[in-house]
Amino acid sequence: MDCIFCKIINGDIPSYTIYEDDYIKCFLDVNPKSNGHTLIIPKKHFNSIDDIENEYLIKIKDKSKDLMKLIEEKLGADGFEITINKGSLQIVKHFHMHIIPNYKKNKKLSIEEVFAILTK
Ligand code: AMP
Ligand code: ZN
Repeated sequence: MDCIFCKIINGDIPSYTIYEDDYIKCFLDVNPKSNGHTLIIPKKHFNSIDDIENEYLIKIKDKSKDLMKLIEEKLGADGFEITINKGSLQIVKHFHMHIIPNYKKNKKLSIEEVFAILTK
C-alpha cells in the first residue's frame, strides 16, 4: 500500500520519533504549526477515525497525556489543540492524532532543536 505513514513505521521514510512501542508511534510533524507539533499514529493501518480499533485509540489517547506533559515540561507549552481530521481535511489517509502545543510567548525553533530538547 502506498501510505506515507506506513513507510514511516517500516523505516522507509525517516522521522523525528519521540516515542514508539508495539502499537503506536509518535513523531514530529514536518510542517509544524508550533514548536513540538506531534503526530500519534497506530502501527496498524486504519484509514480514519471511522475504522480505527478501540484498542489502538485508547493507547493513542493515553500516550497523548504523557506527550503533553513532556511538551509542557520541556518546551513550556501553556495549552494544546488536539485534532483528528477526517474527510476533506484529512490529507494523509492513515489515522493520526495531532498534538499542537500553544504558547503565550514563543520563539520559533527548528525541528532539529525541538527534537533535541524533547529527547535529551
Ligand atoms: P492531515 O492529514 O491534514 O491531518 O495532516 C497530515 C499531517 O502530516 C500534516 O500536518 C503534515 O505536515 C504531516 N506530514 C506529512 N508527511 C509527513 C512526514 N513525512 N513526517 C512528518 N509529518 C508529515
Ligand atoms: Zn498506513
